[in-house]
Amino acid sequence: MTNSQLEKQVYEKLLPVYGHNESLSMQRFLFSALHGKQNHEWLLLRNSEVSETLKTRVETAIPLLLNHMPVQYVVGKTWFYDLELSVEPGVLIPRPETEELVRAIVLKHHLDKSVEILDIGTGSGAIALSLCSQLPFAKVSAADISDIALTVAAKNALNLKLDINLYKADFLNEEAYSLFGKYNIIVSNPPYVKESEKQFMLPNVLDYEPFEALFVPDSDPLVFYRKILAFASSHLYERGEVWFEINESEAVNVARLFTDNGFGNIRIYNDFKGKERFVSGVFNFGDQDYA
Ligand code: SAM
Ligand code: GLN
Repeated sequence: MTNSQLEKQVYEKLLPVYGHNESLSMQRFLFSALHGKQNHEWLLLRNSEVSETLKTRVETAIPLLLNHMPVQYVVGKTWFYDLELSVEPGVLIPRPETEELVRAIVLKHHLDKSVEILDIGTGSGAIALSLCSQLPFAKVSAADISDIALTVAAKNALNLKLDINLYKADFLNEEAYSLFGKYNIIVSNPPYVKESEKQFMLPNVLDYEPFEALFVPDSDPLVFYRKILAFASSHLYERGEVWFEINESEAVNVARLFTDNGFGNIRIYNDFKGKERFVSGVFNFGDQDYA
């Protein structure tokens, strides 16, 4: 069997469960993660015989995919902002929207000669590591409550030779705050999906991704934003910034929390799907001399 015949076979097996677009992108992701070659190299091999190793790996993957395991967990890795990151069940798979949050911070800060950053709820380390690789003068720290996340983030930092400080901390508990110093930028993509929104989510997310990474109670959906902004008001340098990824239905409420905590220059940004997905603000902005 040739490589392209195996690709076609995989696509056809996925098709009844996932439909055309999803099956095609899953099949492509699977193959590129498993063969590890550049796209142009792989194209030259399309009519070659499939290697036994690749065939075995693909055959092991199919039943897992048909069982809705996310392809990134099946292969144990994903790509985020040009970085290859290990991921495993217990750690959230970074989303493409979050790359846009990183891009906005990089655009604003790429000329800074020194900048201290804290990423709260770092998961795989996606935000912290991409900022560290894009901002050469940045000193980056990252925190999470989950041991699995911290282990995976540490492994990713080591593989990528990026130096970040990792902290285990529960940000809902103020006692943890004394571990931390001061920062120019605090960034977070905290859990923000309301439990009532579970019904709209797919089995690949609900059955495999960590509940604690995603969900917040409907009774207090902004709990992480409130806690992090209160933390930030004593852990930011003058004119330090907070950048959040948010639930699209909460932009105005999150913006109000920024105001309540003494932030100014508050901005709401849309993601590539046109949803209000990010909010940023500057601490003590109102007290500053504009000259
Ligand atoms: N930053 C990663 C990303 O964007 O892909 C992961 C974001 S995930 C939506 C939220 C993260 O917050 C998870 O890694 C979870 O373990 C962490 N988390 C949940 N509750 C927390 C808490 N009380 N304190 C600190 N981190 C928490
Ligand atoms: N955007 C993610 C999802 O829909 C949720 C990320 C988060 O809760 N911070 O699965």
